[in-house]
Amino acid sequence: MGSFISNYIVIVSLSGVLNVLLAFLAYFRRTDFQGTKAFVAIAVTSAIYIFGYAVELSSSSLEEIRLWTKIEYLGLPFISPADLILVLYFVGLDKLLNRITLPLLFVIPAVSCLLALTNDYHHLLYRDMYLNMDAPFPTANIVMGPWYIVHGSYTFGCLCAGGCIILAKWNSMKHNYKWQMLTLLVGIILPSAASLAYLFGLSPYGMDPVPVVMSVTSTLYIIAIWSRGMLTAAPIARESLFGHLSDSVLVLDIFERVVDYNPAAEQSIRGLDASSIGKPLARLVEKFSPETLIFIQSNDPAVPAETQVEWKDGEKTFHYQLHCSPLTKRDGRNIGRIVKLTDITEQTMLQEKLQFMATRDSLTQIYNRGYWMDKSREALSACQKLEEPLAVILLDIDHFKNINDRYGHDIGDEALRHLVAVCRSLVHEEMPFGRYGGEEFVICLPGRNLDQAGYIAEMIRKGIEDSPLATPSQQLPITASFGVADETCGQTLEEMLSEADKALYQSKHGGRNRVHLARPKTVYP
Ligand code: GH3
Ligand code: MG
Ligand code: MG
Repeated sequence: MGSFISNYIVIVSLSGVLNVLLAFLAYFRRTDFQGTKAFVAIAVTSAIYIFGYAVELSSSSLEEIRLWTKIEYLGLPFISPADLILVLYFVGLDKLLNRITLPLLFVIPAVSCLLALTNDYHHLLYRDMYLNMDAPFPTANIVMGPWYIVHGSYTFGCLCAGGCIILAKWNSMKHNYKWQMLTLLVGIILPSAASLAYLFGLSPYGMDPVPVVMSVTSTLYIIAIWSRGMLTAAPIARESLFGHLSDSVLVLDIFERVVDYNPAAEQSIRGLDASSIGKPLARLVEKFSPETLIFIQSNDPAVPAETQVEWKDGEKTFHYQLHCSPLTKRDGRNIGRIVKLTDITEQTMLQEKLQFMATRDSLTQIYNRGYWMDKSREALSACQKLEEPLAVILLDIDHFKNINDRYGHDIGDEALRHLVAVCRSLVHEEMPFGRYGGEEFVICLPGRNLDQAGYIAEMIRKGIEDSPLATPSQQLPITASFGVADETCGQTLEEMLSEADKALYQSKHGGRNRVHLARPKTVYP
């Protein structure tokens, strides 16, 4: 018998070593899987319990047995709630664990541990403990106290709940994860069965078989971690994916009523809350324009799956990419729609900024030459179709080099901005106005003939002449020379500009600060 007990102690100790190994393995293999902490906790608390039991087995007196039983309770009560937590993480129900429920799970185990340490004073856990005289080696029999029943029920309750959750989620779990699920299930069922056998007195000499059984479950866990990526590739349940998605997701039924939504949707769609469930989307969210709603409701396969929506919230404008896809059952039956909203405000604003920068002159913020040409070509072809006139005005600041030379480049820049401001106040918004070159500017005048454009050019010339630039030291007079041409001078924009340039040249030669029309050779003033 002596060799039986020593072999038994070796097996139990081996089980403890396996659990220590498991704790290290889990700790060093840990990934983003949150359940790893629970796993390490299971391994550590199991190791405490098992080693305590191994020493209890080798004890020779009741006093020693009592002491080591107390040590066992530093680990034992915490194993089953940690098991349950691991299962919750594994199947993606970890949202049930929060600042309140998580500590609550450990209240009863903490009391069990405390009562075990102080049992001699109240006997609430063990009413009595005496040496088993029938056994060929010193083991203790116990008489349960009232808390022992609470502790036992709680332990089985946690394990039972864990097992039931695994079974309930079995079908919805992907095939790849079923090995991991099975390992978890065996890790719960085997110790539970051994525990029951112990409670019903089925184990030899009233010895606790759980630590030995745990050597089997620990080995299974080690294999699962090593070969099946138990902690590195743990499943992420659909619910938690849905909850953590940064995109807003709405699930609608076939009558366009809200069935579900994720936290991101609640944040981006004002007015969407728990009371929205079951209500039609159109009534809830006035942000969805009628066009957007038609898009969401459309069953036409020709309608693209994506569109962009713009929502104003106070001063801010938000841009969303709206993706709509049908929700079908496995048998192909349509049961609703999934509406996904991706916030693209930042990209859209960046795109708009880039677009603005690509079309504008950085100093004056008016159109740059390339964009002015594009805009004016568009206007010209529109006018040609409508058989309407179109004219261009080219203007060049007189003796601008002198301003730079005398007052410096900064004042020169200031003069350019000033001239643009004067022109803008006189030029209609619909007339494309651009910087053609250094100190040359162009205006396109759709619907205006040569005479009308000449009149406007003269108005601008006068405006510039009458608005000297105010510098800290003086009023700086600025003048410009103008050349005007219209579509009768050339078929293309380039031809019109060439004619306007010739007219401008004549203005310069004629003494500057004047307007020349390309044809007939009219001169202002
Ligand atoms: P004209 O009356 O014949 O047009 O004489 P001008 O001095 O205006 O013409 P010119 O072509 O000799 O000189 C144009 C000057 O404009 C030369 C250049 O340094 C200056 N310039 C061009 N772009 C800028 C600019 O962005 N800022 C400043 N400050 N000066 C510029
Ligand atoms: Mg000039
Ligand atoms: Mg020039």
